[in-house]
Order: sequence, then C-alpha cells, then structure tokens
Amino acid sequence: MATEIMALLELRGVTKQYGGETAVDGIDLNVEAGEILVLLGPSGCGKSTLLRMIAGLELPDGGSILLDGQDITSLPAYRRPVNMMFQSYALFPHLTVRDNIAFGLRREGLPAAEIATRVDEAMAMLEIGGFAARKPDQLSGGQQQRVALARALVKRPRLLLLDEPLGALDKRLRQQTQAELRRLNRQTGIAFVFVTHDNDEAMALADRIAVMQHGRFRQIDAPRRIYGRPVDRFVASLMCDINLFDAEVQAESGDLVLAKAGGLDLRFPADATPRAAGGRQLLGLRLEQIEISREPLPAGPNTASGVITDIEYIGDMTTIAAKLADGRILKASQLNAIHEPLLELDQTVWLQWEAAAVIPLAD
Ligand code: ADP
Repeated sequence: MATEIMALLELRGVTKQYGGETAVDGIDLNVEAGEILVLLGPSGCGKSTLLRMIAGLELPDGGSILLDGQDITSLPAYRRPVNMMFQSYALFPHLTVRDNIAFGLRREGLPAAEIATRVDEAMAMLEIGGFAARKPDQLSGGQQQRVALARALVKRPRLLLLDEPLGALDKRLRQQTQAELRRLNRQTGIAFVFVTHDNDEAMALADRIAVMQHGRFRQIDAPRRIYGRPVDRFVASLMCDINLFDAEVQAESGDLVLAKAGGLDLRFPADATPRAAGGRQLLGLRLEQIEISREPLPAGPNTASGVITDIEYIGDMTTIAAKLADGRILKASQLNAIHEPLLELDQTVWLQWEAAAVIPLAD
C-alpha cells in the first residue's frame, strides 16, 4: 500500500456566509503536525470565522474539514482534539491557578493523580508553579496569560487555535510571549494556528504565513518568502514599505525584461513570476534593496538620482525619500551600523539596485 503523507488538518473548499455576505470563500489549507501557521490579514477578512469553524464553534456552509484524515466538519467542538484560546481568555475568578488549569481535565473525569501530574507539568512549562494557590486577580496580565496558556495546553490537544491572544499585552510582554509560544510549540509538538492582524507578530511566530483578504488566501508561504517574494500588491504593501511602479514592458533581452516607469529604466529577471499579460506590469522594489550613494553613478537601467526630501531615522535604519527628475518619489533605506549617517535634506543622491530586487507583482 502506498503511504500517503497526511496533513494534520486539511480544509477543502471551506465557505461561510452571513446573510448573503461571504466571510470565508472556498478556502483550501493544510496544516502540518507541529507547525505554527499564522493567519494574517486586516480586520474583517475572515480570520476568526475560519478559526471558529476549525474549532467547531461555527458550521461551514460548504466544504469539509479533516483532522488526521477524518472528516470532522460537523463534529461538535467538545469532541474535537482541538483547543481554542481567545484574546479575552477569562479565567475563573473564584478558582486558584491550579484549579483553573485543572478545570477541563476534571470535567473530562480523568483520575485525580493524572490531573495533578499534568497540571504540575503545565505549570512547570510556563513557570507559574509559584502562583499555584493564587486567584487570577492576584496575578499580573502577563501571568494570567500564562495561566490561560497552561489551561489550553494541559489538555494536550493536537491543535491549538489562538485568536489574537496577545492583543491585550504591551509590546515587551508581547515579544516575550511570542518567544515563549515558539518554545512551547517546539517542546510539545502541538500545531498552532494563530490569528493576527499584526505583520511583525506573524513574522516573529510563523513557520508559514497565510495572508488573507476578503475571505481568501492571497499567499501561503514561509515568512522569508512572504516578505521577500510577495505575489501581489496587497501582500507586498501589507508586509513592508515598498516602492511600487506601474511599468510598461518594452522588451526582453537575454534573461532580463526591460521596462519603463516614467523616467526610470527598470530591469528584472525574465523568469520572475507572476507576470502580467500585455505591456503593463506592476513592479515592487523594497527600500533596503536600494544602495544609496553620495558619489555620482553613471545613468542607466536600475539607477536613479534624486534630491532628498525627507529623512527618517529609526534607530538601526535611516530611510530617505528622494525626488527624481520626473517628480516621482523613491524611498530607500540603509543600516546605520554600516553606513555613517551622512545623508542630509536637499542633498543629491544616486540610487542603484540589482535586477533581482525588482519584483513583478500581480495587481
Ligand atoms: P477577522 O477575524 O478577520 O476580523 P471575521 O471572521 O471576524 O474577520 O469576520 C469576517 C466577516 O464576517 C466580517 O465582514 C464580519 O462582519 C462578518 N461576520 C463575522 N461573524 C459574524 C456573525 N456572527 N454574523 C454576521 N456577520 C459576521
């Protein structure tokens, strides 16, 4: 018998409508065992609806959901080996930390000795053993968050669903908790599907990011590729500050495509995708891919010169806006540790970049 490599979770054509409005539009998705998959997209794009259908809190109008190859589309939530953690994770205020964590296991009727072992293990993993006898109101926000995580993990689900669980934390605590989540994921082997609208959070956490818009996925890829090789305008603009050009393709020469955008001559690799049909092509160029020179460079393709109209200094990076001869603004950035901050307003600079930095995008 041929062995088939099976995804932990498989969504096939999953659709959900609310009163004629399509919230989730025929989604296909595989989640592998042990991976962290982040659903990223603006508010209202359907992330939570998708998560609630995986949890069994909402029924799809179409499509199917499989876990370990078994169809669970209409299995009730409590019978799924899946746990969900919300932003408002509401601990029981009258129960101690230990009892909060043990609650779900007691309800399942596990033997007391096993409950005690598993609760101890979860508290050790989240380093909250010292607060076992406290009530939630005697804990900081970050500590409550860890109790909620312990409560979700102690049930040893196959899959943990997290709906913006770090939304209420301040930036530092958020970053700490992100590192903690990565550690817990590696330690337990439990797969995470994590919802956020924050691209930094997605980059920090994900093995793969699924970028969502209007109930559909635009791109599913490793963070490095989502950032470096976005497929369209939406993904490119969501992930980073990027220069966009509505270019006109002129010709192909060897392995390069020659295109023009105003006074700019752009070259990009002929094998780069996605390519638009016809002469128009949207192109992206990330700020840090542009080399900024104070010495004149010969005019030619993938070079420009302009006058600095704005400088933004952000700790490790300096970003400039340069006005080109045709009035177009090109933004570029450089690392302050490598380049001295010798850039000034009204200075003329020369900019250049590699053909591989010019990314064709679907519009
Ligand atoms: P996100 O999590 O990405 O912010 P949601 O999944 O919450 O998006 O919502 C997707 C769309 O579905 C939105 O237009 C929202 O208004 C709508 N929606 C979500 N839940 C309901 C509901 N229970 N009843 C009606 N419309 C809903």
